[in-house]
Amino acid sequence: MTGVYYVIGPEDRNFVITYHAEDSTRIEYLKSQWRRFRCYDPALAQTYEILSRPTNPNLEVTVDRYLPAGAPAGPYRVEVFVPAKHATSKRVIFTITHHINYSTAAAQEEYSYVMVDMSELSDVWHPLGEFYLDPALGREIGKVRQYDLSLEEPPAEAAYGPVRWLPLFPLPGTRIRFDAPVGTPEEREAPFPTGRVMFGKFPIWVGKWYDANPFLSWYTYGYHTGADLNLPGNSEADRGKEVYSIGDGTVTFAGRAGSWGNLVVIAHPEAKVTLPDGTQRRQPIFSRYGHLDKRVLVRLGQRVKRGQPIGYIGLAANALTGSHLHFDICYTNLLAKRPAHWPNLDVIRALHWYSARRESRAYINAQLRIRQEVVDNYLDPFTFLKENH
Ligand SMILES: [Zn+2]
Repeated sequence: MTGVYYVIGPEDRNFVITYHAEDSTRIEYLKSQWRRFRCYDPALAQTYEILSRPTNPNLEVTVDRYLPAGAPAGPYRVEVFVPAKHATSKRVIFTITHHINYSTAAAQEEYSYVMVDMSELSDVWHPLGEFYLDPALGREIGKVRQYDLSLEEPPAEAAYGPVRWLPLFPLPGTRIRFDAPVGTPEEREAPFPTGRVMFGKFPIWVGKWYDANPFLSWYTYGYHTGADLNLPGNSEADRGKEVYSIGDGTVTFAGRAGSWGNLVVIAHPEAKVTLPDGTQRRQPIFSRYGHLDKRVLVRLGQRVKRGQPIGYIGLAANALTGSHLHFDICYTNLLAKRPAHWPNLDVIRALHWYSARRESRAYINAQLRIRQEVVDNYLDPFTFLKENH
């Protein structure tokens, strides 16, 4: 439940019942009308204490749920849990306070009305709307008030269930975390990089996994856009090993892609990124996993969690390089449109043809252009994981 603010039930100090009747006998009667029952929430797999009472032609009872202290300013989606039982009213009135106007003599709450047909809802979180809430303006900000008033004849029942405020922005101090795409759960949890630092001349990522072809290495296919992750031993050592999503995200490509074999691309809404000019910012990124075998475990549009298995290491379609995971990070929109993108293959082929004249200006210029295309779109994945783990 991290990052979300809840007022779960009547025991919470942010759950406040107010009686608007004049005399104490009436208030005692209103108090006697409460029912208390338990309800299981299948979404969060927990049970709540919930109150209910009959609707009323006169306004006599209001129930306020206050946004818990410490919530930062920002846009929130506010939701109420509506149980299947004891919630037959079709016209339950809520107000959500989203601003306080101090321009007049007394502070005035500005709020929105929402009418909820509880008879249609059973054991679900129901949205009351999205609001920009700045708790610095006062304790009333974010308050969800529920009224017993409804002209239903005969009276129906309304439930007073939990309320939650879901921040629609990353909370200050929360870090969106990314892990290595290979390794045991313990290896991926541990500080990055783990284990020994080098395997021969190759940097180690996690456990025994090393990068045989680090970012921007110049090799057969130009400048490398990412890492080629291998286990020590022959090319079969890492074949069939599980590959994991490095972070929470959405699959934007999953399937066969030419010489890649099978390929998965995942969009991540936010990460800490150091751009080639050294500036740092938070922005979306794409992670790409190449040379998977045909048992791809995710499909287009699927939401994935950090550490979720997405496939198994296979072979590139041309099978020239042996089993390994090709892994890279793209910080532009390039992979959204061209998941199988590879920088300037045509130029690289031409360069191979010309390779007898490596010192020529044309060769060197073409090489620089390819390098620029890599740098303009891809990040060093090793540095990226170090900064975001
Ligand atoms: Zn590669």
